[in-house]
Amino acid sequence: MTTTSRRPSVSAAVTARTGSRHRSSAKSFLEPGSPALTEEPPSQRLTGRARFFPSVPDTDWNDWKWQFRHRITSIEQLNAFIPLTPEESARLKLVTARYPMAITPYYLSLIDPDDPDDPIRRQAVPAFEEVTLGCLGMEDPLGEKEDSIVPGLVHRYPDRVLMVLTDICPMLCRHCTRKREWRHGAWTRTDTEIEAMLDYLRRTPAVRDVVISGGDPLTLSTAALESVIARLRAIPHIEIIRIGSRYPVVLPQRIDAGLCDMLSKYGPIWLNTHFNHPNELTPESRAACDRLLRAGVPVNNQSVLLRGVNDSVETMTRLVQGLLRAKVRPYYLYQCDEVQGTEHLRTKVETGIKIIEGLRGHTSGLAVPTFVVDLVQGGGKVPLQPNYVLSMSENELILKNYEGQVFRYRNPDIRRAEDVAGAPVPASGVVESLLAEAERGTI
Ligand code: SF4
Repeated sequence: MTTTSRRPSVSAAVTARTGSRHRSSAKSFLEPGSPALTEEPPSQRLTGRARFFPSVPDTDWNDWKWQFRHRITSIEQLNAFIPLTPEESARLKLVTARYPMAITPYYLSLIDPDDPDDPIRRQAVPAFEEVTLGCLGMEDPLGEKEDSIVPGLVHRYPDRVLMVLTDICPMLCRHCTRKREWRHGAWTRTDTEIEAMLDYLRRTPAVRDVVISGGDPLTLSTAALESVIARLRAIPHIEIIRIGSRYPVVLPQRIDAGLCDMLSKYGPIWLNTHFNHPNELTPESRAACDRLLRAGVPVNNQSVLLRGVNDSVETMTRLVQGLLRAKVRPYYLYQCDEVQGTEHLRTKVETGIKIIEGLRGHTSGLAVPTFVVDLVQGGGKVPLQPNYVLSMSENELILKNYEGQVFRYRNPDIRRAEDVAGAPVPASGVVESLLAEAERGTI
């Protein structure tokens, strides 16, 4: 995200980050004697919404603006739901002084408060390592500020641009690449700034693809978003509009009929979202994706590989298979960027390659995302794969399949075929003599 000007949130956004009125609200969700305060064994305890928010009526719970206004933004509020020791509270206050916290009630309800390693908790609740390891990494590893054409518009690749309309997100993901922006306060682009972006796009016919991303653009009201999308759609050379949003995952109530009706008028619009763990595939989030699909908006998923969240073949298999059942295509698996304050969530690159190796061939090809490292300083995405090519010459390749079997594959060569017409041609097939070596790991 590129931001050279900061503006207070304007009416286009439903609200800025929560202020003091939210700080007193968390305790009111918990009534004395509610299940959250009892000492039942874990198996008999209520979970999710019934445990944390038993008194919230459906009309509020299903209202995305209510969810947004009641985000958990202070450690005191958090402590009402997830018991913290005084030492933990003190430490987390230090963290939030540098990196704020915001968790929607819906997303909080997915956390098991009895599990300190809960994968939803790791994405939403601050960790002390964000500051103790804060010297590692970079503020802006992707060098997004460098490629800004006008405020809010990044033009790095020939035919596509990134348009950033706001820095407000419904939840502040602890692994966010743009953590550096959090302390600058909430802002939304003014119409003058949006017009400057659109003016550049009207004058730049090479651009055919506009990515509207985050901060989360669905934080804008549907009317404000429509005003931008309608003007984009009026530019003849803009073929595709893509929206990057985590709302389907952290606040699926936002994907309402009004939004879907609006999006359906301006296709082709694609939406890339960000599921990281199978526990996020709830009836609500699946229904949100379904509403988008029915509005003609294809939904792709971009996961980030996170330590203790999804860094195993088993978890990623459950996630990608669940995504396919929800008709969402697993698109990318990102290596977590070298961002300051995220080191505790980063894995080694080899972990991602092993996960792809554990998926490829073992489940539908459609379920296998492309594992990518986004290079520092704007170097772009590099796809990484397990090595299936053991050797390659002009005439043949020696390939390893997903089970470790080794095959010879004949490379077609028309000139050679003419020379040897009538002569036996080496066939493709399993290379038995190499199998033993492959098993010994010497190939
Ligand atoms: S939704 Fe995206 S931009 Fe917003 S906090 Fe999460 S990772 Fe960052």
